[in-house]
Amino acid sequence: MQCNHCCVVLLTLGALLGVHGATSPHEVDLLNTMTMKKDLGWRSYPANGWEEISEIDDHNRPIRTFQVCNVLAPAQNNWLLSGYIERGSARRLLVELKFTLRDCASIPGTPGTCKETFNLYYVDADGPDDDAVPLPSPNEPRFRKIDTVAADESFTQVDVGDRVLKLNTEVRDVGSLSHPGLYLAFQDVGACVALVAVRVFYKRCPAEARGLARFPETPSGPDASALVGVPGKCAPHSQPEGPEPPGGPRMYCSADGEWLVPIGKCVCAAGYEDIGGECRACRPGFFKVFNDEATCKRCTAHSHAPHSASARCICERGHYRASNDPPDVPCTRPPSAPRNLLSLVNGTSVWLEWAPPKDKGGRVDLSYSISCLRCDDMSGTLLDVQRSCRPCGAGVRYWPTANGLREAAVLISRLTAHTNYSFKVQAVNGVSSKAGLQAVTPVNITTNQAAPSKILKIKRELNTKDCIVLAWLPPLQPNGEILEYEVKYMEKLSGNESVILSRAARVAVPGLQPGSAYLFQVRARTTAGSGPYSHQVEFSTLSASDAELSPVSVVGVCIAIITISVVLFIGCFILSRRHCGYSKAKQDEEKLQFQNGQVKAHGMKTYVDPHTYEDPAQAVKDFAKEINPSSIKIEKVIGAGEFGEVCSGHLKLSRRREINVAIKTLKGGSTERQRSDFLSEASIMAQFDNPNIIHLEGVVTKSKLVMIVTEYMENGSLDSFLRKRDGQFTVIQLVGMLRGIAAGMTYLSEMGFVHRDLAARNILVSSGLVCKVSDFGLSRVLDRRPEAAYTTLV
Ligand code: AMP
Repeated sequence: MQCNHCCVVLLTLGALLGVHGATSPHEVDLLNTMTMKKDLGWRSYPANGWEEISEIDDHNRPIRTFQVCNVLAPAQNNWLLSGYIERGSARRLLVELKFTLRDCASIPGTPGTCKETFNLYYVDADGPDDDAVPLPSPNEPRFRKIDTVAADESFTQVDVGDRVLKLNTEVRDVGSLSHPGLYLAFQDVGACVALVAVRVFYKRCPAEARGLARFPETPSGPDASALVGVPGKCAPHSQPEGPEPPGGPRMYCSADGEWLVPIGKCVCAAGYEDIGGECRACRPGFFKVFNDEATCKRCTAHSHAPHSASARCICERGHYRASNDPPDVPCTRPPSAPRNLLSLVNGTSVWLEWAPPKDKGGRVDLSYSISCLRCDDMSGTLLDVQRSCRPCGAGVRYWPTANGLREAAVLISRLTAHTNYSFKVQAVNGVSSKAGLQAVTPVNITTNQAAPSKILKIKRELNTKDCIVLAWLPPLQPNGEILEYEVKYMEKLSGNESVILSRAARVAVPGLQPGSAYLFQVRARTTAGSGPYSHQVEFSTLSASDAELSPVSVVGVCIAIITISVVLFIGCFILSRRHCGYSKAKQDEEKLQFQNGQVKAHGMKTYVDPHTYEDPAQAVKDFAKEINPSSIKIEKVIGAGEFGEVCSGHLKLSRRREINVAIKTLKGGSTERQRSDFLSEASIMAQFDNPNIIHLEGVVTKSKLVMIVTEYMENGSLDSFLRKRDGQFTVIQLVGMLRGIAAGMTYLSEMGFVHRDLAARNILVSSGLVCKVSDFGLSRVLDRRPEAAYTTLV
């Protein structure tokens, strides 16, 4: 039976449906019967089942509906088959049905055949070929049931005359689609139903820009719980930030078409900055080095960026960046040359000190490097000097170092005595290596005399019951001609000490006790003084019984070596007397056999106490040189001594040579005792010959004004000098000065002399900061008695 009540209803429903096909941006319609203008072309099986009815709604738009209402006839099986619906990229479709369904109770006289549901099916299809679709049937396996649809509570009520019609909206989903398209099928089994609108759509996440990342429109996943991961694409001139995630930014599209879980982002590339979600090139003069920086920055000092989109600025001419400088720091230049280079020569060492360069090049990594040349000729032209120079070699020591010096000072040692050197000090910073030629500050020096270095190895060549023959290698740095070797030996048991001298690097030590152990030490002496003693070595003589077995030739060799040594020594002694004008004081000194109760070997150089002379004037004559007063020119008074004024002046040594001297005078009216005490200081001083002991030039005793003439020390006494220049010395300079004082005191003690008044006021300082021990007026000879003691005053 046909039921025409629906037509009346539909006109009213058309107004009620309102907006045709209004969908959200998250949904894409594949089919919407409300918006289709042409005939839908859906097929009904059997022909008297579903019926298509076209109406015009309140807005004059056509509405296509399908109705069936065969509620009175039994065994209804009416099918309505849609047209082909192309799936596109969607994997899951949603089917929204708007329909009215009359409840069976409202139809008078309906038998039990009246139903209140209908069934929804779909058929997968590979294209719009209607003939390929089998005839609808629940038993046909290609018809897959989506659901049985019933009218639910969520409906819209419309009063139609005395009845209430309900517009139901039901949505069902069809997931995991794999074929290109499908057909929908509606099966009626005896209901009174009007399909008002059918919409087939899928959910999608609309295209979106998150920061600089662009995400394309993406259909939701194949089922209601699936999340579709979508990689974002970075906007032009941008790139993924950091290493995570590896594919750059990412988001997930949910089943509802919402973007979820954003990960990662894009940032503008170097040379570009983010302005309103777009990467714009840095302007000329600006740069951006790193991707993660927000904005372009102006070029740093001494650099420029001539083009737009610069990732870094180029250094101006003469300016550089060190290889480990970040690209966003200013460009810098090498430092200028060090200034005010000073050199202080002390024996075979030189102390170099300078002021930092005026221009540090805009960097803080300033250091210095030293180069050393040894030159034979310093007198000719610059070219002559350069030609005569060669690198100093590995033997030279630099403290703390030759390269990478942080302090503006260096101590260079182990140079050769009496040799010309040319040093160059270069200031270096991180960009020096990039700048080619460097500014250096040169200084030329000549080393002084220095004592020979230590003897390193002593060996025993022979031993008999009373004689040991020793041999050794000359010191590595003799620093001059070796005049003699001094061999100190001590019987281990008794502690008796003796000294023997030798011109050769070998000596026979006779007169030893049979079967006894002896400790030996050797040192070399030049005109500059004695070097340090070697380490002690122990050798023993043969016992009397062993000696009987030893061959006679050993004794013979021993005697032969002694004879050769004595002959050599006497020969050299006579020669040196003739050629060098050896002083009588020295001759007498060498003859001295007894000293401090100990037997000393012939020629031993040791201190002689002038008070042991019966006539102290004789000591002065023996040790000090008498100067002609006419060669002395007194200039001014510089201090007051115990016995009279101290003056500075000049001493004429020859027609051409004049030196600065200090002149100590004995005030008029002094007693004979005062005169003797005054001159005793000269006879003590005259015995010393060491770079750190004040040097006596001589005495004037034969004129009315008695004088002691010494080398002049430009900086006066150490105490007043330190006070005057407080805080102006570097640690290294102070240590150098202390080292000089210690060397002087070591020398005095080795000479058997105790100063007894070591104090800063008794140290004199030269223009080159060399410290020398002076003031021997209060000094006394070393008292070897164990109970002897003395105190010093600061
Ligand atoms: P003295 O009698 O040795 O204590 O000398 C007195 C002062 O004279 C010292 O404190 C120094 O200031 C000065 N003086 C002594 N000897 C010298 C010297 N060789 N060179 C410079 N100044 C000296």
